[in-house]
Amino acid sequence: MIDSHCHLDSPRYDEDRAELLDRAWDAGVREILSIGIGEGPETMHRALEISREYAGRPETPRIWASAGVHPHEARLADEAAYAKIEGLLLEPEVRACGEIGLDYFYDHSPRDVQKAVFSRQMEIAAGRRKPIIIHCRPSQNSSDAWDDTLEMLRTQWAQRGLGGVLHCFTGEERHAREAMDMGFLISFAGNITFPKAQPIRDAAAMVPLDQMLIETDAPFLAPVPNRGKRNEPGWVKEVAVTIAELRGLEPDEVSDRTTANFRALFHPGTTFASTDLHR
Ligand SMILES: [Zn+2]
Ligand SMILES: [Zn+2]
Repeated sequence: MIDSHCHLDSPRYDEDRAELLDRAWDAGVREILSIGIGEGPETMHRALEISREYAGRPETPRIWASAGVHPHEARLADEAAYAKIEGLLLEPEVRACGEIGLDYFYDHSPRDVQKAVFSRQMEIAAGRRKPIIIHCRPSQNSSDAWDDTLEMLRTQWAQRGLGGVLHCFTGEERHAREAMDMGFLISFAGNITFPKAQPIRDAAAMVPLDQMLIETDAPFLAPVPNRGKRNEPGWVKEVAVTIAELRGLEPDEVSDRTTANFRALFHPGTTFASTDLHR
């Protein structure tokens, strides 16, 4: 099983990061993509540091990193931040640019700034031939951020053939379909277990298994039965179980298929024996 999106660099893990990685291993997690947005551009390198800190540690998931400026912090993106992303994307552990995109729910940065920063980071990712991890959240009862994000992906990304992920998918079926047509994987997080999340479950019942990922977005969005607590990568299992129930499958099938999808996107050119899925 792979947790395709979590924030392992969160200070909320500083006291017990090793222990939660042990628990993730025991739950069957073999790789983790730690999102490198830091607490702003200044600390976006922390995910890479953690990847290296735990590399080679026995019975520990392999940790990969990304690098990018979250739409919340778009107003902090300057030339130094872009240069930092350029540099980080050259490191072998850094597999993607992200999370990047548009958040009109909180509007922590002005929308025109969010768009400019998103656009610039797509350019950087394309130059480094890396996939992108998209964060998209519209304002309430609207699809505004989806419309803008999909339009930007269509005009500035799709033709590059590098693909990416819509992380923590909460959009409508049509948004997922349009992104999948552009080669994106759709990633589902712990909020799929929330009682009111029927639209997310409907989307997860529709997305083909070979275009799907699972994630925690930890420390956020802990799944039922731990809702409200600090989330952790081992709990990605609840996401696999929920999707399996929706589709009448065994959880192992969801784990194995999403693991293969993750590896095809983030480790292109590497071949894995089928037994590697469980190692
Ligand atoms: Zn996000
Ligand atoms: Zn995230």
